[in-house]
Amino acid sequence: MKWSYEGATGPDHWADLDPCYAACRGTWQSPIDLTGATVRDLDRLEPGYQTAPGEVVNTGANIRVNILGGTLGIGEDRYALVQFHYHTPSEHVVDGVACEAEIHLVHGGERTAVLGLFVEVGDENAFINTLTPHLPGHERAGEPVTLDLTDLLPDNLDYFTYDGSLTTPPCDEGLRWIMLKTPVTVSDEQLALLKSFFPDGNARPPQPLNGRAIYVSKGGA
Ligand SMILES: [Zn+2]
Repeated sequence: MKWSYEGATGPDHWADLDPCYAACRGTWQSPIDLTGATVRDLDRLEPGYQTAPGEVVNTGANIRVNILGGTLGIGEDRYALVQFHYHTPSEHVVDGVACEAEIHLVHGGERTAVLGLFVEVGDENAFINTLTPHLPGHERAGEPVTLDLTDLLPDNLDYFTYDGSLTTPPCDEGLRWIMLKTPVTVSDEQLALLKSFFPDGNARPPQPLNGRAIYVSKGGA
């Protein structure tokens, strides 16, 4: 049965919809509330993203851009970007409060690493402007979009980190989560556009922490 974000096929029932979704009732699930993180001297993030062509797809659960667009370094570890997508509102919360949206940069490597960006309303976002004509229903839909994910990152790369899961079925665990503290901004118009594809939202609610550690870069929790 196809999963969804509400009712009988919504997040509370994902684990029951298909034996392959059993991990959705696991103990290391994402997203979470990031409140209470322990301040620590964390490895600096080293974005090694590159300009690359991306393919925009509507997965039925989100708008995703498949893009082999370089790497993210964290200490000795290197992860290769494979796709990014977004959720509205945000999935991770702080003190129970969600942001307007959350962008997930998904990387492969020894384990899957997701770099998450909180999105709030403010200045117009040039990266989103580059993407817009290629979104479903727009003038260049179906054509590849040339992007460099470096252009999406805020200047301050302080982050929260913890071990979690995919936030959609099959909810596989063992993911390395990196959530930047500094949000990126979009204009009101850009937010309305981002929300238009899934007007009822596509965010999984926060899951129990179950004793996991959350760390946050020095520079303020
Ligand atoms: Zn996601």
